Amino acid sequence: MNSFQGKTALVTGASRGIGRAIAVQLARGGARLALNYAGNQAAAEEALRLVREAGSPEARLFQFDVADPVAVGKAVDEVVSTMGGLHILVNNAGIALDQLVMRIKDDDWQRQLDVNLSGAFHLIRAATRPMMKARGGSIVNLTSVVGEMGNAGQAAYAATKAGLIGLTKSVARELASRNVRVNAVAPGYIDTDMTASLPADAKQKMAEMIPLGRLGSVEDVAAAVAWLCSDQASYVTGEVLRVNGGMHM
Ligand code: NAP
Repeated sequence: MNSFQGKTALVTGASRGIGRAIAVQLARGGARLALNYAGNQAAAEEALRLVREAGSPEARLFQFDVADPVAVGKAVDEVVSTMGGLHILVNNAGIALDQLVMRIKDDDWQRQLDVNLSGAFHLIRAATRPMMKARGGSIVNLTSVVGEMGNAGQAAYAATKAGLIGLTKSVARELASRNVRVNAVAPGYIDTDMTASLPADAKQKMAEMIPLGRLGSVEDVAAAVAWLCSDQASYVTGEVLRVNGGMHM
């Protein structure tokens, strides 16, 4: 079990899916959790209950849109001033508005960039000062297998996820001397709301293409993220850790 005693962690998109599992995993290790979500209040409250039960009784919800730099700045300031600083940041919030490239609307292209890529940038920029002040920190960005492989129907989404890899590596270089590590986790196909609309036979075909023979679980991804956040990964920065069952090597 990784130990996060005395550390405060902010997880974006923590109300559902992978983000919720990451928050629960960090809470099990004793971190104080700040849970961000966009608007699904019921899901966020259920995530908060699970996280408190898992080991973070002081956990709190922070509703804001990661695409809004002013809201992000205010939320990070509040986490730092009321929750004992900021030591771990997981940029997990993300959206996929799938469409063939010739049909992508300008607004949909822009929204995916704003949430998936600029959102992570806003949070990293806001978190940098408190982490440098704390003389250390860990940032993990959720990219995707499609950021490395591409995927028909996901040009915009894949572009944002490829962009996150460049962001991760650049910031890792900038912050290494301050003992702030920055890594990415690239999940393959994980069973969440994001992939729920795939028909069962498509999921079956997908599983057949994956060497380990199944879609991933949110816990598979959460375990990798928690390890990167932990001191066990203290010599790992600028890395992209693939959690995809061997789908892309
Ligand atoms: P999900 O089930 O669709 O959940 C998305 C989460 O992000 C929710 O908590 C949602 O909040 C939040 N969110 C969405 N837009 C937001 C915004 N503008 N500001 C703040 N929060 C926002 O997604 P998931 O499948 O768990 O995916 C999590 C991350 O992993 C994403 O970055 C995704 O791209 C990446 N990923 C997923 C897969 C997969 O197969 N599922 C594969 C590779 C990578 P509300 O509940 O309030 O809406």
